[in-house]
Formats: sequence, C-alpha cells, structure tokens
Amino acid sequence: MAKYNPYDNVLETIEAAAKMLSLPRNDYETLKYPERELKVGIPVEMDNGDVRVFEGYRVQHSSLRGPCKGGIRFHPDVEINEVKALAAWMTFKCAVVNIPYGGGKGAVNVDPRTISRAELRRMTRRYTAMILPLIGPEKDIPAPDVNTNEDIMGWIMDTYSMFKGYTVSSVVTGKPIGIGGSLGRSSATGRGVMLITREILHRLGMPVLDTKVAIQGVGKVGGVAASLLAKEGMKVVALSDVSGGIYKEKGLNIEKVMEYVKNGGLLHDYTLEKVEYITNQKLLTLNVDVLIPAALENQINKDLASKIEAKIVVEGANGPTTTEADKILSTKGTIVVPDILANAGGVIVSYFEWVQNIQSLTWDEDEVNRTLEKILIRAFNVVWDKKKEYGSTMRMGAYMVALDKLCDARRIRGIFP
Ligand code: NAD
Repeated sequence: MAKYNPYDNVLETIEAAAKMLSLPRNDYETLKYPERELKVGIPVEMDNGDVRVFEGYRVQHSSLRGPCKGGIRFHPDVEINEVKALAAWMTFKCAVVNIPYGGGKGAVNVDPRTISRAELRRMTRRYTAMILPLIGPEKDIPAPDVNTNEDIMGWIMDTYSMFKGYTVSSVVTGKPIGIGGSLGRSSATGRGVMLITREILHRLGMPVLDTKVAIQGVGKVGGVAASLLAKEGMKVVALSDVSGGIYKEKGLNIEKVMEYVKNGGLLHDYTLEKVEYITNQKLLTLNVDVLIPAALENQINKDLASKIEAKIVVEGANGPTTTEADKILSTKGTIVVPDILANAGGVIVSYFEWVQNIQSLTWDEDEVNRTLEKILIRAFNVVWDKKKEYGSTMRMGAYMVALDKLCDARRIRGIFP
C-alpha cells in the first residue's frame, strides 16, 4: 500500500473546490506548489558532550495575501510532505477567516520528552538561527503547534532579537504574556473549537445541554476545548492522549482530568474517578453526538470512516480526516466541520497578538475573546452559505470561500515578472 501523503490530500481538495467553482487553471495553479521549502541540519551539543544532529524544516506555502503564518511542530515522525500540507492548510485557513496572512509551517524531527530542557533550548535556538533568513514580522511568523509551547516561542523571539540587535516581539506569536504574548492566545484554538461546536449544534437544531462529546487529544487544542465545552453544559464522555483513552458514560470530571494532565499524567494511568479504559481507535468510533479529533492528521482513514457513529465531526486537529474517509462520511450524512474553519481560533488570536506587538498596544482578554468570536462566526456563516449555494460539504464550502479570495488576490497581483 502506498504511504499516506497528506500533501496529496491538499492537492485533491484544491482541485475539487476549483472544479466546483469552475475556476480557470491559471488562477489556482500556483497554489499547488509551496513558494519555498527549507531543510536544515541542527547540530546540538547534548548534556553529556555528544553532538546530535536533528533535521528541521520551514515551508512557506503562500504569501499571496500577506506574510506566511504557521506553527512549529516538534515530533519524531515529521517529514516534508506533512510540513508542506500543514503549510498549505494555513494558507486556506487564513483566507477562509479573512485575516491578512499566507501560510507556512515548520518542524523538527525530535521527541522533546526524550531530551533535557537545556538541550531543548539549545536545539530551538539553533533551529531558529538556521531558519532565520526566512522568518520575520513582515515575512513569516511562527507559532506553537504539536509539542511546542510558549517557552519555546520565547526562545525563538529572543534568538531572533539577538541576531537583529534589538527586540522584535512580532516575529513569533503564542509567546509568554511577559514578552508580548496576547491574553487569550493559549486558549484560543480550543475556544474556537467550542464556538464552532456550539454554532453547528444551533444550525442543526440540536441541543447544547448534555450533548455527548468525545475528544481525541488533551493538549492545547483538545484539553482547552474539553474544559470549555463542559462549561457550556456538554457532556464530555471520552478523552484520549498518546497513551490511550478514558470513557465515562455519565460524563468525565473535566476539571479533575485536566489538572491531572497539566501535572504530566498520562490517561492510561488515570484513577481519580471510575472510568473505562479504551483505545484511541475505540474513542473515534464511540456513539456520541460530536467527535473532536484534536491530536494528529490521518486519524480518520477509510477503514475507520464507516465505523464512525458521531453525527458531527469537528476537526480540532489539522488534517485528521483523509480524502477517502471524507467521502465516506459525506455519503453517510456525517457533518464534518473542516479544520481550516474549526481550529482557526488560534491563528486569529495570533493575528491579534502580532497586531498588538506592531502597535505596541495590549488588548484585554474580553476584547480578544469578543473579536475572536465575531471573526469566527462570520466565517462560519460565509462557509455555511457557500455550502448551501453549491449543495456541497462544509469542507468544500470552506475551500471554495478560501479559493475565491486567493484567486482574486492572484488575479489582482498577476504573475511576476
Ligand atoms: P499538543 O502537543 O498540545 O497536544 C497533542 C495531543 O495529542 C496530546 O494530548 C497528545 O498526547 C495527543 N497525541 C499525540 N499523538 C497521539 C496519537 N498518536 N494518538 C492519540 N493522541 C495523540 O498539540 P496541539 O497544539 O493541541 O495540536 C493538536 C492538533 O491541533 C494538531 O493537529 C495541530 O496542528 C492542531 N492545531 C493546533 C493549534 C494550536 O494553536 N496549538 C492551532 C490549530 C491547529
């Protein structure tokens, strides 16, 4: 069997949306090719004196509508096609929610749990130095992604600033508040997932109270979404992490679980309440109202899709559903709210952070959350209308909205020279 290539997913989706819109090939051809792909070797002096070289990437998919924007992932399995796909999804995400960015993504082949904090810091600084020619507030602005956090963003900001000779807060978002981070950024992606889940339930005439939800991943996206959905009165019955999942029919005590996770606990060892231990696979096929994959891509594949029982899938992760699985879900009548809309809360508040840094202003958290909700729900409505107009899935609706904007920009700018 051919190895799964997430960038093929991207290309197929672009072609399908362009076909629905009857776009001439000249308008969207450039979007099939990332503008730049950089691969770097990152030598690090380990604590025991050995030198280890990690491999890293930064891909700029498109700067058509503004500077490239996208997170940095630290994961032992990353490879170039994954980074290309993640970068392209950022281009479409920023276009669908109409913020003035293109798309980029970075990654390093490392499992940060297997190295010390000092090694992690040296590796992050060297990686930043290696990708320095590409990044900058007007060019390409990194942010957190899987296994990266605000400390790492702080080291990136400091390293970039040391090279420049002055402080440049706006080179990266998702920073600690003390050095220019935005209030509300750390919870923004999860908050967006909550807002979108609530909105889709309203649209489908389903109640919010006691709606049964299962979430794969309890990190920055899944963990925050779980807490906020529980606060809305939904019943989070299952959660999972890399070690496996837990299930409780009456609904898990989310505060307890999140406190446990924050202290470094893995769910397969969770004993603070009576739960059933399940696999990640089982979690994805539970009989719930809403399923939220919020871990990694390629989780819902064609074999699994036919077994999905949830009525609604809200994609917290990037690319959790393969193209083949997407077709099966659509045929079954499962509503899929696509990643480029469902998890856009993070990049929207990253945009607010960048705007605050550039203007040397700070917004209060209420303003951040209010403006986030306004932008996200407006985008939801635009996508919903497009889906209705074309009788398409929500994913196609979102891609059509984004492609319209991107192709419009391409036509106005033309092709250089
Ligand atoms: P994270 O590192 O904070 O959390 C990842 C979670 O997934 C952890 O709970 C981890 O245990 C779990 N996980 C890892 N491998 C797994 C596996 N094989 N099976 C099941 N669970 C597994 O990462 P995050 O920032 O929450 O990102 C999660 C997803 O959301 C990614 O696809 C990321 O690209 C996407 N995303 C993140 C943001 C953001 O602001 N952080 C924004 C948009 C999209």
